Amino acid sequence: MKIDHIAIAVNSVDEAVKEYKQALGIQEVEFETIESEGVRVAILHLKNSRIELMEPTRDDSPIKKFLTSRGEGLHHIALETDNIEGEVERMKGCGIRFLGDVRPGSRGTKVTFIHPKSLHGVLAELCYHPE
Ligand code: ZN
Repeated sequence: MKIDHIAIAVNSVDEAVKEYKQALGIQEVEFETIESEGVRVAILHLKNSRIELMEPTRDDSPIKKFLTSRGEGLHHIALETDNIEGEVERMKGCGIRFLGDVRPGSRGTKVTFIHPKSLHGVLAELCYHPE
């Protein structure tokens, strides 16, 4: 398992991306909208990982709810695994709770989320990238 990305909830991706590009000295940014999750994402590639800035695209987006209750900030960390179904099964066996089943993410990935109560207050995404 390794860290795939760190996701940060922001009010405006366009605003936040300017500051992050400056702070991290990054030129290239990819943008992506994931309608099924109600988010627009700016992806900043680091040497060994990515930072994703996320803004809500609609009022019932989970990111909208997060911003309303907690404001901008760290939303989740994502852990990549080669065998997401196997990991979910193993973790469930240890009493880890999940938010939803394994489902399609962007670009052919599979994702699910581990309940923050199972990880001492941190929301974690488990993700799988096809080769
Ligand atoms: Zn994520």
